[in-house]
Amino acid sequence: MSTGDAGSGGNSKRSPTPAEAENRPKPVGFGVEELAEVKKMERLHCSGRQVPSPMGGFLMDLGVRQEPDGTSTILFECKTSALRYQLPLRISTWRERRKVRVQADEGLDPLCPRGELGPPLVRRGKDFFCPRCNIMFGRVP
Ligand SMILES: [Zn+2]
Repeated sequence: MSTGDAGSGGNSKRSPTPAEAENRPKPVGFGVEELAEVKKMERLHCSGRQVPSPMGGFLMDLGVRQEPDGTSTILFECKTSALRYQLPLRISTWRERRKVRVQADEGLDPLCPRGELGPPLVRRGKDFFCPRCNIMFGRVP
């Protein structure tokens, strides 16, 4: 049993509109409002710190969705208003992958390049991925 890449079926698909017909997978998300300042929120989240809510107070992490284009979307709920927000994350850049690569080559456990100090990346098949942002950061050497 492999843990990665599960689920070729079961995804409910909407019928594509002409604009979506070009076969580019798009992030599905959770259909809620997106948070602003994605990079900052992403850094806080990957660092294991509290992510501020647009309504004041902080957000609670409800889960992460693996998107068909290799990105991921995190779902949050505001602890005070219970409003929900999503944080769409980017695919890893070559710079991030290189950073991870260098650490792995030095025999270290690579840390997520989006957090301040971690978390350590985990292996999924042949790839390193971050347990918080769920983004792949390159191949295990
Ligand atoms: Zn991360």
